[in-house]
Amino acid sequence: MATPEEHRSHNVVIVGGGAAGIELATRLGKRRDMAVVLVDRDASHFWKPRLHELAAGLLGDGEEAVSYLAHGQAHGYRYEPGALAHVDTDARRIALDEVRMPVTDELILPPRSLPYDTLVLAFGSRVNDFGTPGVLEYCDMLDSPAQAVALRRKILALALRSAGDPQRRIRIGIVGAGATGVELAAELHHAFNDMHRYGGLSGASKLDITLMDMAPRVLPAVDPRTSASAQRTLEEMGVDVRVGVGVDAVTEGAFHLSDGHTVPCDVRVWAAGITGHAIVADLGPFTLSKDRRIVVDERLAAQGVANVYAIGDCAFAAIPHGGTVPPTAQAAHQQANYLARVLPRAIGGEAVPPFVYHSKGTLVSLGEYRATGELPSVVHKAGPIPMRGWLAKLLYVSLQHMHRVALHGWTKANALWLADRLRDTTLPPVKLH
Ligand SMILES: Cc1cc2nc3c(=O)[nH]c(=O)nc-3n(C[C@H](O)[C@H](O)[C@H](O)COP(=O)(O)OP(=O)(O)OC[C@H]3O[C@@H](n4cnc5c(N)ncnc54)[C@H](O)[C@@H]3O)c2cc1C
Repeated sequence: MATPEEHRSHNVVIVGGGAAGIELATRLGKRRDMAVVLVDRDASHFWKPRLHELAAGLLGDGEEAVSYLAHGQAHGYRYEPGALAHVDTDARRIALDEVRMPVTDELILPPRSLPYDTLVLAFGSRVNDFGTPGVLEYCDMLDSPAQAVALRRKILALALRSAGDPQRRIRIGIVGAGATGVELAAELHHAFNDMHRYGGLSGASKLDITLMDMAPRVLPAVDPRTSASAQRTLEEMGVDVRVGVGVDAVTEGAFHLSDGHTVPCDVRVWAAGITGHAIVADLGPFTLSKDRRIVVDERLAAQGVANVYAIGDCAFAAIPHGGTVPPTAQAAHQQANYLARVLPRAIGGEAVPPFVYHSKGTLVSLGEYRATGELPSVVHKAGPIPMRGWLAKLLYVSLQHMHRVALHGWTKANALWLADRLRDTTLPPVKLH
């Protein structure tokens, strides 16, 4: 029997089913004139902005995972498992690594190659260690659900040990006072209080969190007033915020700072910005930015290469009047939407308008019912509009709701929201396993 691809004319391969790739596959999968294949090294999609909640135990394993096989079946695209190894832009084929079973390491699929007419690269980014000695050996990172769960287990083990020893404090160091570091510090504080209430373990009063960054303030990308308010909230929680200081090295039990101080920590988390994946260097004839991302033109096409686009964190897209599109879920969503709209026309040879990034503001969660951040100004030349408290939290949560709408439609996204609220009222708020 003919595969769905053989009935359709144009073969679109999307590599990476993250915030950008899965939204694009969902939109294009509906078209009858395209065969869409989504390649991912993992079997399921997880929306990265919730990784810190998974790490803090406020979200259970697999709760948010979307199986590519099932989602593809429902939305008209085919899922191909495997990690991208190489792109042959002359032959228009991509090479995928072999696939092995987790834990048993049994070979499931050999290395393969897939043809494409149009290729969209959307394989995201990874945390940047800036070459700092000891980071890879001694730090946890928040790049994937597996890393977040590993971090949660370490933190839970510390909480259990400290419950049996009243003198023992729990020392957690986080490098990177951007959104990820700030949210993780706040969620850990919240999670420890829940562990105390629901598990009888140590509460946040036994927690020593140190948040470090070489930038002069937390959340350096937002307005200084918003940044000051976030820092105040963290300090009220007891977080030791150290800004304007770099980390020279990490050892088994400590961060060593550029001002000569040492911060001893039981758990060390590195969340200091992003860079492109190492494979990008040998992937194909792409123009790369200094931070190893694929340089794209104003229509998100990879510079100097035909029929290849890049979106999301792996793309380096200049904004005409200065700056670059930020590596955020918000930008990934906008780029996926844009490409879903223009790709069919571009393939048909039509001229299409350029991508225009619209910042919808920055919001950072500071625990259960609050968030802080700012919305873009509505008046020309006025500053951003600060947002705090539960209203900011509501807008923060709506970002994920819109992602769910893009993946499942309004009815299912609303049902999922309702299911979350029911879960909140019936299950313990923190995962104690
Ligand atoms: C803890 C945390 C909190 C965040 N909070 C926010 C927030 O509040 N708001 C916001 O806007 N942004 C936030 N971000 C940033 C946001 O998550 C990313 O910008 C966004 O996920 C990027 O989308 P993407 O599709 O480019 O990449 P990703 O979502 O990272 O997806 C990449 C996909 O590619 C796959 N992949 C990787 N390599 C390969 C390969 N070689 N072959 C095949 N598949 C591959 C991965 O498995 C993954 O499925 C946060 C990020 C983190 C880590």
